[in-house]
Amino acid sequence: MASVEIDRLVRLLARLPGLGQRSAQRVALALLKRRDTVMLPLADALTACAERVRPCEICGNLDTTEPCGICRDPEREAGLLCVVAELEDLWALERAMVFKGRYHVLGGTLKAMDGIGPEELGVDRLLRRVEEQQIAEVILALGATVDGQTTSHYLAERLQPLGSTVTRLGRGVPVGGELTYLDEGTLDAALRARQRVA
Ligand code: ZN
Repeated sequence: MASVEIDRLVRLLARLPGLGQRSAQRVALALLKRRDTVMLPLADALTACAERVRPCEICGNLDTTEPCGICRDPEREAGLLCVVAELEDLWALERAMVFKGRYHVLGGTLKAMDGIGPEELGVDRLLRRVEEQQIAEVILALGATVDGQTTSHYLAERLQPLGSTVTRLGRGVPVGGELTYLDEGTLDAALRARQRVA
């Protein structure tokens, strides 16, 4: 029988996305076998992130500084704002190095069935930001899923009275595609082919 410590490790690992009980055991074993090269550095990384990483109050990005590095970067085009559903989408665009503006991370998409409405996504915060920062163009990069499309339509309607140009990604994004699964070329094409919606 496994020790209390190992048991606790496995139970915590099993709470991670994509890991069930058996894969959690496998991961725990792999960690225990690589104590110095993986397990201890991982424990350090976990502590450092838990202590220092916080969501940026302006855009929702995660960073150790407030505002985050992207919001503070003077090289970024201040009038260009890309709205994404999840942080992974921001990472995908940053990885592809195709976007030079700033971001707004909603933290999800509208899902009436799950009780996720405009309030849960902080839509008012986004509208205030667009108004206060006098954003010239808001790019809705919310993917082509039904929820993404619904959210895009809703945001376009709410953004329209503010006078900013509102666009959405062009047809490079496949139906049902999430940004994080797209390669750089596709993301670049989708960004270049963006279409005005309001
Ligand atoms: Zn930020």
